[in-house]
Amino acid sequence: MRVLLTGGSGFIAAHCVDYLLQGNHSVVFTVRSHDKGKRILSNHPNVSQNKLSYVIVEDIAKEDAFEEAVKSDPPFEAVLHTASPFHFKATDPKKDLLDPATIGTTGILKAIKKNAPTVKHVAITSSFASIINPNGHPEVYNEGVWNPITMDESLNGDGSTAYRGSKKLAEVAAWDFVEKEKPNFTISTLCPPTVLGPVVHYLNDLASINTSNELVRDLIQGKMEKGLPPTRTIIWVDVRDLARAHVRAIERPEAAGKRFLITAGSYRNSEVADIIKKNFPDLKSKLPEKYEREPAEDPFKYDNSRSKEVLGIKYMDLEKSITDLVKSLQSVGA
Ligand code: NDP
Repeated sequence: MRVLLTGGSGFIAAHCVDYLLQGNHSVVFTVRSHDKGKRILSNHPNVSQNKLSYVIVEDIAKEDAFEEAVKSDPPFEAVLHTASPFHFKATDPKKDLLDPATIGTTGILKAIKKNAPTVKHVAITSSFASIINPNGHPEVYNEGVWNPITMDESLNGDGSTAYRGSKKLAEVAAWDFVEKEKPNFTISTLCPPTVLGPVVHYLNDLASINTSNELVRDLIQGKMEKGLPPTRTIIWVDVRDLARAHVRAIERPEAAGKRFLITAGSYRNSEVADIIKKNFPDLKSKLPEKYEREPAEDPFKYDNSRSKEVLGIKYMDLEKSITDLVKSLQSVGA
């Protein structure tokens, strides 16, 4: 298939490129600048231009951002929409998070409907943020559960509330679009919690690492000598499993119209530190000598069976994910 991948410079998207190419798809990714596009292409020196190329989309928060990017010769058959800001530092929640997330999502769906009639399936990176309800866990988290957060709460809460709102409202907007507009394509949404695993995209420096890998970077750089912070989301997934899930979502017709909770299971920051100590004895001095162990019992239950049954995901374990992540950080100078 010929596939458009948005947010090509992202942590997750970099792995999507790898799996799309392995699956013999041809990929056009979007980036905000030629500099980023060229750097990503330089990571794939043996891949021809008709297999991998890029197109500039400067700001997904602009209503017509994707109007031209969805046009291609040969035409696209599928789209992976991963681009969306992920951080907890918004000073202006609307401008920094909500607009790029929601307008970015509806914008690409509108552009596909208008200008890319050959696209049959779109997979959208949503988040466990659009499922979790921090004020009251359900009996079990599965694809039927929605975070009840509103636009008002998203605009007036802290950075983490704004991020959770941006993902929930963007995903709702996507499903609403399909219901109201009845386009010629189907969608799937992927809802991962904390995503860990090797960084393969071009990093300017370790300061600009993606949000979900910050903890491990800080740990191995000796920035947490005094102890560990509480584990943020408790459940996690390796980025390679998530990228595989994205590709299977566009390859498997049975994924159409479905939402997926993509998680390998639960973890604690103390387990991450244990794994680093065990596998990288040289880094022991950088890690806190003592750290608290959070309760082993999970605060909520989750069900990832749909991702296994429909997408065939066999989840990687935490030890492999963390050791590969640390090795990748060391390779860029950590
Ligand atoms: P990254 O920060 O590495 O990637 C985000 C991507 O979105 C980058 O390519 C970035 O471009 C692009 N982007 C952000 N804002 C804009 C904008 N206004 N215009 C154009 N491009 C923009 O994050 P991840 O790879 O971790 O995240 C990718 C997706 O996965 C996001 O949708 C995120 O919400 C979701 N997700 C991530 C999780 C995680 O733990 N990592 C967990 C759950 C969901 P640039 O590089 O130029 O800034």
